[in-house]
Amino acid sequence: MTTNDISLPEALLRALRGSQRIAVLTGAGISAESGVPMFRDTMTGLWARYNPEDLATPEAFRRDPKLVWGWYAWRRALVAQATPNAGHLALAELERRIPGFTLITQNVDGLHRRAGSRRVLELHGNITRNKCFDEGTLVEDWEETGSVPPLCPRCGGYVRPDVVWFGEVLPEQALEEALEASRGCELFLCVGTSALVQPAASLPFEALRAGARVLEVNPDATPLTPHATWSLRGTAGMMLPELLDRL
Ligand code: NAD
Repeated sequence: MTTNDISLPEALLRALRGSQRIAVLTGAGISAESGVPMFRDTMTGLWARYNPEDLATPEAFRRDPKLVWGWYAWRRALVAQATPNAGHLALAELERRIPGFTLITQNVDGLHRRAGSRRVLELHGNITRNKCFDEGTLVEDWEETGSVPPLCPRCGGYVRPDVVWFGEVLPEQALEEALEASRGCELFLCVGTSALVQPAASLPFEALRAGARVLEVNPDATPLTPHATWSLRGTAGMMLPELLDRL
């Protein structure tokens, strides 16, 4: 399909061209085309018998830190091999063209920054960073003692990835800024998220309540679909470059 084969509603194009303040929320779907698996994808190999929702919790880490660290090591390797796709690149370009642009992501893979996005509100942390499980402080280096997970050089507690697990609170400042951008934008794009994980899932509704129009980009319907102003059924890698082209 060439880009011009995608038909976009005129009102959407007008909103896109006329908006000075655009907020975008992305989820795991935008990185699917880069080969980073979504949580709902069946896990392969060693990890096939686990459910990600049972590994991405503080309880799981307390119960079996080695298992959870190993799972993150596997995911980190996938992320390291992945490269940003056309969807990530289109959002980086949109940031350059729109004065009031805010990118909010639930992804922990860092691909938006690698695509050139400068300001990214990472609501769920970043898999490439680590912190102390006990103290919560960032850990950049540790002594190789053979311990898995490694040990915090300050307190000797376990090191864990700096991501937000199920049941944990989101970084306050990033969430605050995300709420402000959602309530203050004219157009809100919701890309590649199942719109199920709170509080991120409430952001498009905050935007709607404040009078913004909401565009969803997702190959499948989600709980947001009936409320969105427009829903484009397609992948981020196909739809976002098209939107940029028509700006
Ligand atoms: P999700 O897996 O629940 O939903 C992904 C959504 O993307 C689905 O609705 C799916 O239909 C859609 N999708 C699939 N392929 C797409 C494509 N090519 N283009 C656009 N949309 C596509 O993901 P979520 O809503 O982000 O929530 C899950 C949680 O999992 C989040 O908290 C996130 O932090 C975490 N997670 C992150 C990553 C990552 O960083 N890449 C990967 C897996 C899970």
